[in-house]
Amino acid sequence: MSYRFCQLLIACWCLQTAQCQNNNSQSMDFEKYNPVSTLVVPEHPIHKAKFPFIDVHNHQWNMANQDLSELIKDMDSMNMAVMVNLSGSNGNELQQMTANVKEHYPSRFIVFANINFNGIGENDWSEKTVKQLEQDVKHGANGLKIFKTLGFSVRDNKGNRVTVDDARLDAIWEKCGVLKIPVLIHTADPKPFWDSPDEHNERWLELKLHPDRKRDDNNPAPWQTLLEEQHRMFMKHPNTIFIAAHFGWYANNLTKLDSLLKQMPNVYVEFGAVIAELGRQPHAARAFFEKYQDRILFGKDSWVPEEYATYFRVLETEDEYFPYHKKYHAFWRIYGMGLSDGILKKVYYKNALKIVPDIDKSLFPD
Ligand SMILES: [Zn+2]
Repeated sequence: MSYRFCQLLIACWCLQTAQCQNNNSQSMDFEKYNPVSTLVVPEHPIHKAKFPFIDVHNHQWNMANQDLSELIKDMDSMNMAVMVNLSGSNGNELQQMTANVKEHYPSRFIVFANINFNGIGENDWSEKTVKQLEQDVKHGANGLKIFKTLGFSVRDNKGNRVTVDDARLDAIWEKCGVLKIPVLIHTADPKPFWDSPDEHNERWLELKLHPDRKRDDNNPAPWQTLLEEQHRMFMKHPNTIFIAAHFGWYANNLTKLDSLLKQMPNVYVEFGAVIAELGRQPHAARAFFEKYQDRILFGKDSWVPEEYATYFRVLETEDEYFPYHKKYHAFWRIYGMGLSDGILKKVYYKNALKIVPDIDKSLFPD
């Protein structure tokens, strides 16, 4: 080795080390990196919806004993005219919930019933369950909510996974059509939960914070399989109205959702927990809302009143590059769609009034 070459090597090594040290001092956790935006553009934060609205995806587990006036205060402050509580249970518990609502705020809350899947596979299960649902509707339930446990963890009396399109559930979906109540159903979870939890995964942070959300093809089945079970079930029951929760987990692929909604005219969607998917593609999302303005409902899911502002801002404004409230759903900033009043009214309340029975229409403008 020549002396000059050695010198060159040492110089390179020094440079690299210096660079390395420099990089090290600059590196930080993904969770920590949260730069303050320097962008200056008009901002229109909205804490109260432009029109009274119906939240079709809410959970109040304790509605039987709850002081509802606390909820009403928050609802009034944001212009939520009606809250749909999807966690209505069934039987006595449901009856206590609807009684509390009826006594205190009969026109401000709607309760959906839930199915008890215990014993599915036994001879009389379907018949018994349909009867219970009829009773629950008599006692004030205005819809049926199916949790994601169906498809994930519900097992029959032989220990087999009950698929979303299991024939033993057909009588329930048919009964909902006859009773003219909608079925709001959540199936599976975001697709990245099935993918490798590495640097390429958009939900890496969520999987890091909630490792129990990780799925794979055997836990309990491939994502695609679960979604296809749901779609087959929707198509098998064209006389029943279904609301696919969370945009059917296709808010990040509106072309696909478009093709599905075209095939299934009995299906509606709500955007609970996926507003950041819409807010990162405001042009495509607005076109989708224009096309499907009669089949999109307002839903939020988790009851955190201050987070509704993000939803109003995406729907109503044309604001640019504003933050979303949960980094593990979206590490990106989002944009407003600037929907017209006509579409806002449909999404905020008209579509829900069409498919959910017994909502007091006098709470809403024409
Ligand atoms: Zn939910």
